[in-house]
Amino acid sequence: MHLAIQQLSKTYPNGTQALKDVSLDIPQGMFGLLGRNGAGKSTLMRILATLQEADQGSARLEGSGGPPIDLLRQKDEIRQTLGYLPQSFGFHPRVSAERLLDHFAILKGIAEPAARREVVEALLHRTNLWEVRAHRMGTFSGGMRQRFGVAVALLGNPKLIIVDEPTAGLDPEERVRFLNLLSEIGEESVVILSTHIVEDVEELCSRLAIIDGGEILLEAEPIRAIAQLRGRIWRRTVARDELATLEQTVPVISTKLLAGRTIAHVYADAPPDPGFEAVEPDMKDVYFSVMAGHHGRRAA
Ligand code: ADP
Repeated sequence: MHLAIQQLSKTYPNGTQALKDVSLDIPQGMFGLLGRNGAGKSTLMRILATLQEADQGSARLEGSGGPPIDLLRQKDEIRQTLGYLPQSFGFHPRVSAERLLDHFAILKGIAEPAARREVVEALLHRTNLWEVRAHRMGTFSGGMRQRFGVAVALLGNPKLIIVDEPTAGLDPEERVRFLNLLSEIGEESVVILSTHIVEDVEELCSRLAIIDGGEILLEAEPIRAIAQLRGRIWRRTVARDELATLEQTVPVISTKLLAGRTIAHVYADAPPDPGFEAVEPDMKDVYFSVMAGHHGRRAA
């Protein structure tokens, strides 16, 4: 099973071109769509979730057990096998988690009460909300709410699961718990996780794409993309007044503060000067190299 997206474009009525010829092949498992704010992630997620129209292009879910489903035209068909967890969703603060999930299950078409009870109970267990199933939604933490969102998204055993910026606003512990939950469901479906957090993708996804300005800049396996940077990333501590000069002479891809000192990462085939030391690259180096234009779509 895989999702084949071809040359998808979208321009908003105010002239903003949010997607430019986006083509991606998304296999079964966890796929990360990484990009900063305004990159075009939500636009793509909403088009795939049938909530918004594309101007042109195609998206087909293939090998899901029947004939391919055209997401842009067969909206009713894809909705039956789609789970969507939006960035934020309205909920009813006075209703218990169990009742609300039951309500969504009815909307999803699970009409038979015994079957529905079974599905609702299984999902409450799976998302670790069983103990708090009788609590009102208004008392839930951000992490509990997101896990409830996953339970809703999983109703009806979807083959395509779309999760838009799920970890924003979660504390570190909730985030880890949430990512673990996602990685469990990832095995049986095509799961697309959009995020601006590099670590989300690094920890969870077997494939990723980096999007910026509505364009796909890289499509790769994180492990291979990292391996390709080996021997090309160098690091040096720089004084504050030195940074501007350094940026003019060598390709600085990122700077970060560590214990009050600025550390610059540079992309180069050899150390720019003896003051630099080699860095074992990570996903952040991949992201910043790509964003700086040093590591292209065909490179990985
Ligand atoms: P992301 O989810 O990566 O933050 P979005 O898809 O929300 O990116 O936005 C992509 C671009 O489209 C941005 O420039 C944003 O300002 C613009 N945009 C998003 N929604 C609309 C809209 N309804 N009308 C006009 N422009 C929009």
